[in-house]
Amino acid sequence: MNPRRISKTIKIGNVAIGGGAPVVVQSMTKTDTRDARATIEQIKELEDCGCELIRVAVPDAEAARAIVDIKKGISIPLVADIHFDYRLALTALESGADGLRLNPGNIGEPEKVKAVAIAARERGAPIRIGLNAGSLPKTDNPNLNVAERMVEAALEQIRLLESLDFDLIKVSLKAFDVPTTIEAYQAIAENMPYPLHIGITEAGTPRTGVIRSTVGIGTLLWLGIGDTIRVSLTAHPREEVVAGYEILKSLNLRQRGPVLVSCPTCGRAEADVVKLAEAVEARLQKIDKPIRVAVMGCVVNGPGEAKDADVGIACGKGKGVIFKKGEKVAVVEEKDFLTALMKEVEGL
Ligand code: SF4
Repeated sequence: MNPRRISKTIKIGNVAIGGGAPVVVQSMTKTDTRDARATIEQIKELEDCGCELIRVAVPDAEAARAIVDIKKGISIPLVADIHFDYRLALTALESGADGLRLNPGNIGEPEKVKAVAIAARERGAPIRIGLNAGSLPKTDNPNLNVAERMVEAALEQIRLLESLDFDLIKVSLKAFDVPTTIEAYQAIAENMPYPLHIGITEAGTPRTGVIRSTVGIGTLLWLGIGDTIRVSLTAHPREEVVAGYEILKSLNLRQRGPVLVSCPTCGRAEADVVKLAEAVEARLQKIDKPIRVAVMGCVVNGPGEAKDADVGIACGKGKGVIFKKGEKVAVVEEKDFLTALMKEVEGL
């Protein structure tokens, strides 16, 4: 894996982004922001599964004002997502937003961008320049491809904020197309010093969207690019946070909660491994410890993996062997596989 690109560090509330800080997992609420109670409830649920930064859509002034109440009910920093109307950005900041996501390019006259930059700087609130391939400004150069156009537009908007003496900047360049996204991030990473928010936009439902996001985000992280991630899914945002951590855990970039190792099963399996692994996975969701748990289907290849895990089971015919820290600790009946395994997990 490439060494991580070291960007400038910004702080959104108490969360550091860039400069070698751990890659931050974030998500976006799917409630009506004007409904503070429902929005708080969803954010609390996301906090419980590890979400470190939350973004809320701010389509109107009522939503911007609701941030006052939302902030009182949550513990993680909040970013207000603004389009077009600079007054919404000002109200969101007055209401306590810790950061903004907007495109200076669609805010309009320089005076309006300047007003937002001044208010954000006074509060120490960073601005994410968030470009999407689907809504790029016009370009004078017809030879540029989509990735190049995203980079060109982002650099222009960075220069605009810098000219206003504002440097609490974070950048994202998202497309649905994974190669386009990777190309754009690679180019911008070499051309400016600010941290990068990475993701694949409109990635789809969990079945396909997690794969698409993992390929895009995982490749960028492998290249050393990316300071905060959002997995965009057509699903409850909890799925986005869980997927985000799984990507980071797969690359050994973050640890959170258990890792489940389970064999794919084959003609040698002597128990219903799919059912057992699913039941174990559901139970592990409530555990915070960064442990490795293995569920293996037979006594041929199972014991090796099971021994390497903190706790593991190698299922045999009607009986299974439980291992803990490499040592065989019990032989259990098939009906007791789940409870016996979880007893050892909980005892760690
Ligand atoms: S552990 Fe055993 S059952 Fe599972 S895939 Fe390997 S050989 Fe097949």
